[in-house]
Amino acid sequence: MASLTHPNLVILSGAGLSAESGVATFRGTDGLWEGHRIEDVATPEAFVRTPELVQHFYNLRRVALKTVEPNAAHHALVRLENAWPGGFLHVTQNVDDLNERVGAKRLLHMHGQLKKVRCVWCRTVLDWESPVTVDTPCPECGRTGKLRPDIVWFGEMPYYIDEIMRALETVDIFLCIGTSGVVYPAAGFVRLAAEHGCQRLIEVNLKPTGITSHFTEERHGPASIEVPRLVDELLAESMRI
Ligand code: NAD
Repeated sequence: MASLTHPNLVILSGAGLSAESGVATFRGTDGLWEGHRIEDVATPEAFVRTPELVQHFYNLRRVALKTVEPNAAHHALVRLENAWPGGFLHVTQNVDDLNERVGAKRLLHMHGQLKKVRCVWCRTVLDWESPVTVDTPCPECGRTGKLRPDIVWFGEMPYYIDEIMRALETVDIFLCIGTSGVVYPAAGFVRLAAEHGCQRLIEVNLKPTGITSHFTEERHGPASIEVPRLVDELLAESMRI
């Protein structure tokens, strides 16, 4: 654990953080992601079976990013990052770019990013804005049919796990925003933080989740209201320490 004057903060965010910006969550009322079953668009098997459908799905998600804006919760988190006196790490499961658009720096996309593609042949990761088809050549190695969305699909290993695990070993305040707590390993981070001695575990969500019992504080309500309020509280407390 860090010194009391410089508490280490780790944030885990999920689709609920961006919901009020107009980015659909995974498990809405129908349990689908933008009308698709997860197995059809977010697994390596789906990409082998129907690459056209998978590419089309992520092409649409990438284009849709142009129509959304960060909300008050994204802005509040970057205010927290800039003013926090201790260690700070924001781990997001989100694949959108709304946090970086407001200036987030200490941010890890553990499930990848919509605006990147990866060549499965030469392994190059590239910034990408335009649609990808099964015929798009990799600009690096020239092979066609090898570019895939740089998204971590179900059954694949999330990015930055070692870095995240190290941060959880010394976290003093763990804040979880807008995640359903059913996608592992992210859903297990709150328990790991507690096992490492973190005594302040805060969940922000519209409603209780399957992992709520592991938290020491719950804030129920929209992230655009609850996150700015919580950030004000945390920063005020940090100034009193
Ligand atoms: P999820 O869709 O499974 O759960 C969303 C959670 O957010 C729910 O618990 C819901 O109650 C809560 N929520 C919804 N609106 C909220 C609001 N306004 N304020 C606070 N909470 C709100 O999302 P997940 O747990 O992040 O897991 C889904 C996976 O889907 C992730 O791996 C992610 O990569 C992917 N995904 C990403 C995006 C994105 O990038 N914005 C969107 C959809 C899915």
